[in-house]
Formats: sequence, C-alpha cells, structure tokens
Amino acid sequence: MQNIDKPQIAVSRCLGFSPCRYNGQMIPDKFVDKLKDYVEYKTVCPEVEIGLGIPRDTLRLVLEKDKIILYQPATGKEYTKQMDEYSIKCLDSFEEVDGFILKGRSPSCGIKDVKLYLGKEKTTGAIKGVGIFASQVMKKYPLLAIEEEGRLTNFRVREHFLTKIYIMFKFREVQKAKSMATLVKFQSDNKYLLMAYSQKEQKLLGNIVGNHNKRSIDEIIDDYKNHLGYAFIRIPRFSNYINSLMHILGYFSDKLSVNEKKFILGTFQKYKIGKMPLSVPINLLKSYAIKYEQSYLLEQSIWDPYPEDLMDLSDSGK
Ligand code: SF4
Repeated sequence: MQNIDKPQIAVSRCLGFSPCRYNGQMIPDKFVDKLKDYVEYKTVCPEVEIGLGIPRDTLRLVLEKDKIILYQPATGKEYTKQMDEYSIKCLDSFEEVDGFILKGRSPSCGIKDVKLYLGKEKTTGAIKGVGIFASQVMKKYPLLAIEEEGRLTNFRVREHFLTKIYIMFKFREVQKAKSMATLVKFQSDNKYLLMAYSQKEQKLLGNIVGNHNKRSIDEIIDDYKNHLGYAFIRIPRFSNYINSLMHILGYFSDKLSVNEKKFILGTFQKYKIGKMPLSVPINLLKSYAIKYEQSYLLEQSIWDPYPEDLMDLSDSGK
C-alpha cells in the first residue's frame, strides 16, 4: 500500500530492487538503499515493461534522420515507439511523485551522457544524449528533482536533491489543504531556504501569496508550485546561501561581541571557499537563535531541509 506520508520517488528497478539489467544483474546503490526508510519508492524497469526479457540483447540510442531511435543491434529491431508509449502511460499512472532516481548511461533511463550513436554501426561515432524514458520524465516533470545514481555520490548534488524532494513533498500538504493560511505558513517557514536558493523567486512567491489580483486558491497554488520548482531548479550559489545566512545573523548581531561576529563570518567564508560544510555555519547560527529565543527563526526549514539522518558528508568529488 502507498505510504503517502513520505516523499514519493520513482527509481530505476535495477538499482538494488531486482536483477533486471540486460545481463541479469542488479546494481546495489548505497544512497538508494539508505533512502528506503524515508521515502516511498515506485520502481520501474522500462525495458522489461515493454516486453524485453532478462537477460536480453543490449539496446542503444541511434540518431537517424534527425530522430533518436532505440535500437537493438543483435536483432535489428527498433523499440522507440513501444518505449515512448510505455513511458507516457507509466508517468500518467503516477498520482503523486516528488522526484526520480534513474540509472545513469542507460539508453532508457540515463538523464545525460548516454551514448547516442550517429548511425546504426558503432564505427559512426557517438555524441551524448538522453535515454528515451528519461526524456519523457524530464518533459512531464521539468521542475522536479531528477537525478542519476552516479551523480548522487557528489555531496552538493545529493544535498540539493534531498532538499528539493522534501520541499516538493511538503508543498503537497499545502495543495491538499487548499487554504491560504497553510500557504502563508509554508512561505513563512521556508523564507530563508527560499532566499538561499533564489532571492528573485522568493520575492515572486511572496507576491503570489500576497494575492493582490484576488485570484482563486487553485490558481494561486498552481502558480506557486510552478515558481517553487523554478526556485529549486539548480544547486544554489555559495554567495546566495551566505546572503540568506547574513539576514539570519541580522536578528541577533547587535547582541554579539566583535569576536563572536568575526568567528561567525569566518565560518561563512570557509564555507564559501569549500573548506567547511554548510552544516557548520548553519548550526552555529541556530545555536544563537536558540540562545536568543528567536522563535520565528527556529521554525525555519533552512536548519534541516531534510531529515538529519540522511545527512552524509561523503563526496566522490565527481
Ligand atoms: S537502466 Fe532502466 S531499463 Fe535498464 S535495467 Fe535499469 S531500470 Fe531497467
């Protein structure tokens, strides 16, 4: 049964759920495994779903007459139509989804850097493309978190992914409640996280909530969701985050000694040059918010945008 109290994540089935790869293997993934207790997974294996067996002859993407086809060299068969049709049907069947973890480099699931051959013969050379299923995912959900398992070994990519799936998951509560009060609270609680990601979108979202044009709640929520997606479209710049932290510091900076301020600003600088994880200045500021009983600040999602147990500082550097 679907557990709707957790983020809903669609995942390539071969990433530790079933030995469904072309060679009958699966690829266990540490991060996918760790997330199992925190999210509700919907597993998909597009190649098996279109009727290809396990094991099966490999597929490849081929660029032919300006069209991308899914080609099986061993049989000479094309599976583009089946894959497109299955992808649309599969994605339409998802009632709720907050993000995707897809298997990299696959001609079906890969979101980037998939070999796209320039002809049916391997000797024709190749450029980089997107898997057929993945391209339908990106077309239908351009503003959701969509990542490959390989990229999620990078700390910043992973942190961004988790932040985005949790913010979209929490927003679904606002969609369900359909009330201005819930939306106002959401905007308020996420103020400094939004500012850290995009000051422009944070202001725009504030205007949407302000509802100066007296629109209906449905219109407001649709517009808000769209701009929320834009706010989290890419990994935030260090300078954006520091700008938001400076605003937070402003709540109690007049109570701090010169040395305390110097120390805090030093952590911002070390974070900026990559010598310190974000969690250090964040926790330092939080300790002052606790000390000075800043209840408004303590409600902010910027302290822990996703469950603390999912925090993992390991970084492949890739
Ligand atoms: S990459 Fe996608 S299509 Fe290939 S085995 Fe994994 S889930 Fe199936």
